[in-house]
Amino acid sequence: MGTMRFADRIRNLFGIKSAASEELFEDLADLLVEGDFGAAEAFKTVDALQDICRKNKITDRDKIREALADLLKGMLIKKDPPVFGSNELGVILLLGVNGVGKTTSAAKLANLYRSSAGRRPLLAAADTFRAAAIDQLKIHGERLGVRVVAHKHGGDPAAVVYDALEAAVSGAGDLIIADTAGRMHTKSALVEELKKIDRIVESKSGNSRYLKWLVLDATTGRNALAQAEIFHEAVSLDGVILTKYDSSARGGIAFSLSADLRLPVLFVCDGEQYENIAPFDPHRYVREFLG
Ligand code: GDP
Repeated sequence: MGTMRFADRIRNLFGIKSAASEELFEDLADLLVEGDFGAAEAFKTVDALQDICRKNKITDRDKIREALADLLKGMLIKKDPPVFGSNELGVILLLGVNGVGKTTSAAKLANLYRSSAGRRPLLAAADTFRAAAIDQLKIHGERLGVRVVAHKHGGDPAAVVYDALEAAVSGAGDLIIADTAGRMHTKSALVEELKKIDRIVESKSGNSRYLKWLVLDATTGRNALAQAEIFHEAVSLDGVILTKYDSSARGGIAFSLSADLRLPVLFVCDGEQYENIAPFDPHRYVREFLG
């Protein structure tokens, strides 16, 4: 993404005092591609913007920027994070490759749903592939005072989620947040394992509300979209949590997730503390994308 922050470059582009030119739109298309848009989506967006500007006789750069902001806002799927009914059992499966912030996000969600919605969360350590992942979740559970359901390293991850469901049904909690493996010997082994967990949770979750969220690192660019495609195809996702949004290397992956995969971003995380999570806000996202 070059040396200058993406948002600064967008600001520079619109900061030039001269009237808009063909070049402005060309530069904008290039910048959108650098901001994690696919090439086709970038050109489509810029074409639509040029149409709007022509129709409304907009030539002023500030006004073009406003029209772009509206266009970008319209691209984003807006979906509020779920509110669970008082007698409803929620099951959230968190998916994503190692290092994206999955375990941290599980802890943040447990804390958030407990403090803001009065839920009684249970953390399920269904990444049995890495011993460190189980330990890390236990540390979060201790810090937060949230029960962690875990088996031994190498155990069956679906059995962990199953135990968490049993515990919830017998009154230990009403929101299961399960951490899953992000890496195995091969990609196909991982996909097969996730499909198996999905089948078991689907068949055992009865009347509960079962959701599958992908955790994505906002600084990994189009790579995040490639990851989303794999997981979405494997288990059909309900939404995305964007992490590391506090980094200046973040791009605009939410636009591609909406446009290419019809996947909403539900939460954005902007730091390592438990409080650094908030529902996705399209207005704020576009404002920060445009600098
Ligand atoms: P996992 O392998 O996907 O479970 O990832 P972890 O939850 O262990 O997180 C990997 C690293 O990213 C840890 O050092 C976290 O503290 C850090 N991390 C997670 N979320 C965020 C975030 O929103 N912002 C920043 N700056 N760091 C984060």
